Amino acid sequence: MTERVKDRIERVRQRMAEAAGRVGRNPEDVELVAVTKTVPVARIREVIDAGVTLLGENRVQEASDKIALLRSFPVTWHLIGHLQTNKSRPAAELFELIHSLDSVKLAAALDRHGAALQKQVRVLVEINLGGEPSKTGLLEPDLVPLLESCRQFTHLAIEGLMAIPPYRRNPEDVRPFFRRLRLLRDEAAKACPDYPLRHLSMGMSHDYEIAIEEGATLVRVGTAIFEARSAV
Ligand SMILES: *Cc1c(COP(=O)(O)O)cnc(C)c1O
Repeated sequence: MTERVKDRIERVRQRMAEAAGRVGRNPEDVELVAVTKTVPVARIREVIDAGVTLLGENRVQEASDKIALLRSFPVTWHLIGHLQTNKSRPAAELFELIHSLDSVKLAAALDRHGAALQKQVRVLVEINLGGEPSKTGLLEPDLVPLLESCRQFTHLAIEGLMAIPPYRRNPEDVRPFFRRLRLLRDEAAKACPDYPLRHLSMGMSHDYEIAIEEGATLVRVGTAIFEARSAV
């Protein structure tokens, strides 16, 4: 079992490096976030043993339990799912990076917790690229106003953008969304040069290679690591 998880991670890492190579990027500029939602702690230990150091969870409570159990391991945790303001205190405390900032209200709460915890709370702004009503995230025109409103927050570090594009069976059809997120980041960086928007969190199991070709710095991969697949 351990070998298989290890093999899958090797395969993902190899494909990540190849994708970076295809567009002349340094593979070291792209990090793998292993998505461990619903995965039990024993299996998470296998990916830690295989050298993975960044783990992504969707829910604060589920993550909190796992973080407590895996406290002694050299890993950091990212929150990749939607965050409600009433869970923002433990989120500020537990996560190295929160990928899902989507309102000034949440930013204010995280900033307040950051001040109390004497830390910079690191976040990405989640963008609802397709403008899908069923999805969370900020609409594109709201990004620069949000960045401007967040200038006042001294314990919040906004480091980039995240998106979960609409699903397309052919990963190549997702490329325009990834490209759009990168352009949006470039435009926002120009409008607000004081923000170092270096991260693009985009790409999941079926499209992370395309995301890397379009500039992803963090890919969030679950199924390709944890579920048996005949192709592996
Ligand atoms: C579950 C999840 C992923 C991982 O998706 P896979 O298709 O299993 O790789 C990535 N990002 C978010 C926000 C998720 O909820």
